[in-house]
Amino acid sequence: MPESRDLRRPLEQELISRGVRMTHQRRLLIQIIQGADSHLDALALWQRARRQDPTLNKVTVYRTLAMLKKYGLVDELDLMHLEGGRHYYEARTTRDHIHLACIKCGRIQEFESSLFEKLKGQIERERRFSIKVVRVEAGGFCDRCKP
Ligand SMILES: [Zn+2]
Ligand SMILES: [Zn+2]
Repeated sequence: MPESRDLRRPLEQELISRGVRMTHQRRLLIQIIQGADSHLDALALWQRARRQDPTLNKVTVYRTLAMLKKYGLVDELDLMHLEGGRHYYEARTTRDHIHLACIKCGRIQEFESSLFEKLKGQIERERRFSIKVVRVEAGGFCDRCKP
């Protein structure tokens, strides 16, 4: 369950402010991504959207995801490739988080820490590198699966 959900930027407003034309289907997809309680891949997103609009085409899902990526509004994650080559999408938050992927049950937890923010600051200072995207994933056993 992403604890960072409340920190998500309102995607629809972000798109409108960039001059993107909002269609009914785009709005539906964006609402699902914004409100998702788990990390969705394109197929899961399509399945959820089709429950509300059976005419929604898979191509629309890919196009909308590509557009959100282009504007830097979603992160694309592979989550340790637990499910093969699937990619997951989540709305970018104002604070970055680390993903903890359980290699046994597949549960994904999110972890935020001020140390992570400090580390990013240190990288930016020491390497004079301006970080735009940062992804950290840890694979292991969650508290329920720990042997
Ligand atoms: Zn587990
Ligand atoms: Zn996440």
